[in-house]
Amino acid sequence: MNEKEHIVIVGGGFAGLTLLKSLDRRKYRVTIVDATNYHSFPPLFYLIASGGVEPAGICFPLRREVGHFIDEGARFQMGKVTDVDTRSKVIHTETGEEIAYDRLIIAAGTTNNFFNMPDLEKKVYTLKSVEQAIRCRNDILLRLEEATATHDAEKRHRLLSFVVVGGGPTGVEIAGALGEMKRYTVPREYPELKREEIKITIVEGTDRLLRTMSEKSSVKAKNYLEKLMVTTRLGVNMTSYDGEQVTFSDGTQLPAGMLIWTAGVSAVPFSFTGDAPAIGRGGRLEVDAYNRVSGLDNVYAVGDISLMTADPSFPQGHPQLAQVAIQQARTLAYNLNNGTAKREFRYKDKGTMATVGRNRAVVDLPGLHFGGWVAWMLWMAIHLVSILGMRNRITVFLSWVWSYFTYSQALRLILKASREPEKE
Ligand SMILES: Cc1cc2nc3c(=O)[nH]c(=O)nc-3n(C[C@H](O)[C@H](O)[C@H](O)COP(=O)(O)OP(=O)(O)OC[C@H]3O[C@@H](n4cnc5c(N)ncnc54)[C@H](O)[C@@H]3O)c2cc1C
Repeated sequence: MNEKEHIVIVGGGFAGLTLLKSLDRRKYRVTIVDATNYHSFPPLFYLIASGGVEPAGICFPLRREVGHFIDEGARFQMGKVTDVDTRSKVIHTETGEEIAYDRLIIAAGTTNNFFNMPDLEKKVYTLKSVEQAIRCRNDILLRLEEATATHDAEKRHRLLSFVVVGGGPTGVEIAGALGEMKRYTVPREYPELKREEIKITIVEGTDRLLRTMSEKSSVKAKNYLEKLMVTTRLGVNMTSYDGEQVTFSDGTQLPAGMLIWTAGVSAVPFSFTGDAPAIGRGGRLEVDAYNRVSGLDNVYAVGDISLMTADPSFPQGHPQLAQVAIQQARTLAYNLNNGTAKREFRYKDKGTMATVGRNRAVVDLPGLHFGGWVAWMLWMAIHLVSILGMRNRITVFLSWVWSYFTYSQALRLILKASREPEKE
């Protein structure tokens, strides 16, 4: 078995798992290294944050997935990779482990980008990981509880002012979920609160929401949010946030007890010893049409972390979407399995969609844009089949059906990890 070339994949997300399944394991010994021990489904993180699904419903243990191929030499190792030594062909993890590779595939995705705003990270809520989404859920619920307990009008106002910065799909979806809570859950379960007291604002720097989708979808999404009592502010950028007030580029301010930041991502950073890779926009690793990292030998980058400008239809690089990651991983596996750089990557756009609360979504398919209930059904069906694991699919499906008929999200538990014992 040791005669096989060793491929190490950093990241067990959409790209990493697709590679694991598609690489010829008779030819390659494959090791997946991931900072967590599970594969997760980021498109539904906003539902964790709003109590619509359990984290376990959209995550899947990586060891279980790798276990299917264990007899063929596949391995999983948990570890956060920090350094790549291209001279010795070794990667290092945060805890000091070393893993040697013959070929390295970096598929570690992205992290939040705070655009050099000092200390923003310490003050805002984000949705880039399951942990961040759980933190968001706990604090949304805590705010509602604290607001019911106080008679101080100013404090109540502060607790109940939510601002979402970033009008992309994640921003629109979390704003829609908050709007649902305001509209349906609060009147039923928090009689101490008036729903008008809850202020939800979504802020977008350009002139429309969902700017990567069609104009029709942008208009629809804005209307849907209005129906959920969410205010939209377009054409202003956030310039600072002190934990209570957010200030915008036009000088205006808005109270924001809770600010959810969905405004930008940058590639997960690594430090390189030996040769240096070409780094492009958003810290992404520049790759050629075969996903080979420019400037490095036997190192590839796939999915959100890569920047490919060789695809004629996407000269600025591909959108950071799950479909791009999956298709790139398949093409790279094909090329590696066949021993040569045979097939250049060309992204086939199958469409994009976003949901805005129950019953409403917007869908852009090539040449076709629609919204409403049919779009929402399509959104649910596509997301359900994309979740890994039959048990997870059934769990999520049942919880959707339940909340559809009862207007209740049963998962609104405030669960915080104990601080003791302290970990060394
Ligand atoms: C909130 C949210 C909503 C989204 N909604 C949509 C949507 O509706 N439709 C859509 O197409 N796309 C959506 N996306 C984008 C989509 O999730 C990404 O395009 C896709 O996940 C990219 O796949 P990937 O394999 O490149 O990276 P990921 O799926 O992000 O996987 C990266 C993996 O690398 C691991 N990792 C990270 N750093 C390290 C490290 N240093 N060492 C080891 N492991 C590491 C992570 O734990 C993770 O498992 C959304 C993203 C987010 C965050």
